Amino acid sequence: MARAAGKATVRPGDNVWVNVDVLMTHDVCGPGTIGVFKREFGKTAKVWDREKIVIIPDHYIFTGDSLSNRNVDILREFVGEQHIKYFYDVIDDPAGKWVFDTHKGNYGRQFGNNFAGVCHAALAARGHTRPGEILLGTDSHTCMAGAFGEFATGIGNTDAGFVFGTGKLLLKVPETMRFWFDGQLQRGVMGKDIILHIIGEIGFDGATYRAMQFDGPGAKALGMDDRMTIANMAIEAGGKNGIFEPDEKTFAYVNERIEANGTKANYDPLFCDADQKFVYENKFDLSKLEPTVACHPNPGNRKLAKELGNISLDRAYIGSCTGGKLSDFLAFAEIVTGRKVKIDTFGVPATPEIMLELQQRKVWQALADAGVQLTENAGCAACLGGPVDTFGRMNKPQKCISTTNRNFPGRMGHLESQVFLASPATVAASALTGKITDPREFLK
Ligand code: SF4
Repeated sequence: MARAAGKATVRPGDNVWVNVDVLMTHDVCGPGTIGVFKREFGKTAKVWDREKIVIIPDHYIFTGDSLSNRNVDILREFVGEQHIKYFYDVIDDPAGKWVFDTHKGNYGRQFGNNFAGVCHAALAARGHTRPGEILLGTDSHTCMAGAFGEFATGIGNTDAGFVFGTGKLLLKVPETMRFWFDGQLQRGVMGKDIILHIIGEIGFDGATYRAMQFDGPGAKALGMDDRMTIANMAIEAGGKNGIFEPDEKTFAYVNERIEANGTKANYDPLFCDADQKFVYENKFDLSKLEPTVACHPNPGNRKLAKELGNISLDRAYIGSCTGGKLSDFLAFAEIVTGRKVKIDTFGVPATPEIMLELQQRKVWQALADAGVQLTENAGCAACLGGPVDTFGRMNKPQKCISTTNRNFPGRMGHLESQVFLASPATVAASALTGKITDPREFLK
């Protein structure tokens, strides 16, 4: 933040104007952001930098709801007017209109060649997450990009409209909490279990306006997908951002995606200061963690999966930026393949590339054979409910175990439905039994 503010140092509590490297918006907040920008800067105003804005329709896309479809058209018109470089449209025609074909249904692909899927997964996959940068997005889970050693946080439409016009934002420097990881995860335990354990420890407001720094040899041992899952859910403890120090794994991941997509090649990583001060410190032995569940109605309502065998479920769901990545589907498939799910089970990949990879590896077919209902239309789907025809949405009071990140009342549809957050492995085991189940029962 000091570097982005042009200062030698900053301290927690300082309010600084930072220069923004990337501003991301999507179909839900983009139209509102555009409205604020035009109202405040004028109808003919130009954005501060057409190469630093990334627009990703992903939320209410695959629905017959005409107002939701119209939101994507508003984004396209703005992109055309402003010549914005990075727009991952759902259709190929820059002059076209987006209409979801409800007759074709939700299972088969309905997107064009440039569509990128869920914004946070797409930002990483398309080379927009880079160490040492400031990434802001009109979405609370923008903190996921902290997995790459950058300051990434969610902002509202008003702030984003201001960034459109100026490229700057006034931010308060957060205090930092350090979560030190030792040891290695046992089989059947994933990054999701780590972050659910931590949120249970500090509460769903335990990190309000603080940076959550994930550190130590256990953090270095985690792959990028697990780091993304953990940073993604910093906001579920109220955190301003989550962050991992970048290392060789980070650079390999980022460089590969920058090269493949031709996005900005130069970035300047930053590392932790030796004399860093923390407002909170705690150590976690990852080898002692067990499959963990956040019960209805908030992400801090922590229990162990093995204690919840009395909870019968109506459905299971794997998907979202948090839990719809390739490694998530592979962990899920390891348990489900060759068996049959007992309850309605829905699968939504986070990006089209993940869907294609699963199909090429024949994992897609194995999941379908197990009875999992899969959509090729990568997106947010039922993670936040959406219009009533959204794939996997709960339209009646039901209990669902899900790899998503948030379970406040009504989050996945019906206000009286209940969502239990868990890892892909725990969701897989629970889909097979119809009750919340410790995945280690299937991995012996
Ligand atoms: S998948 Fe869910 S949490 Fe992620 S961006 Fe979409 S709605 Fe938000």
